[in-house]
Amino acid sequence: MVDRPLLYLDVDGPLNPYRAKPEQRPRGYETHRLLPQSWIARHRDIPVRRVKPLRVWLNPSHGRTLTELAEDFELWWATTWEHDANTHIAPVLGLPELPVVEWKSPGCQGPEGTFWKTAELVEHAAGRPFAWVDDDITTPDRRYINARHAAPALLRFVHPAAGLVEDDFAALTSWARTLGP
Ligand SMILES: [Mg+2]
Repeated sequence: MVDRPLLYLDVDGPLNPYRAKPEQRPRGYETHRLLPQSWIARHRDIPVRRVKPLRVWLNPSHGRTLTELAEDFELWWATTWEHDANTHIAPVLGLPELPVVEWKSPGCQGPEGTFWKTAELVEHAAGRPFAWVDDDITTPDRRYINARHAAPALLRFVHPAAGLVEDDFAALTSWARTLGP
């Protein structure tokens, strides 16, 4: 069987539209207060019991749609949440445990003005076609991937005030199907 393309999933932005107005939870989303390890680590100066949970908005319909997308894609977490995404996000959305891209240099400047994930994802994909949804994709990332990744790639910018919408899912599905069996 031919490998499906990879789908790299960011959490903050695509699944958690953190840029939406705080007093106006986007329609279809539910509020969760989560305490991922990465969030606790950011508050090393205070005891864990006093760390205020992180407010995360998640849309249950995303779980269903991503499950459908898994017919066409091999889903991977590509997020600073890393394994916390399986612990805290997947169960809420009704997703199975997904493989996780483990970052080598999270938050560092990438080469040629790219976002820090970009070169690592090219390396991770190792020549396989991939789609990537993220709110940090810009022109240098497209340029870099065009130049360094010979297989097809779909870079889908998702606005962090909106999160993933129907158009994004439709674009992902039709792209995967253009690759053929
Ligand atoms: Mg993001």
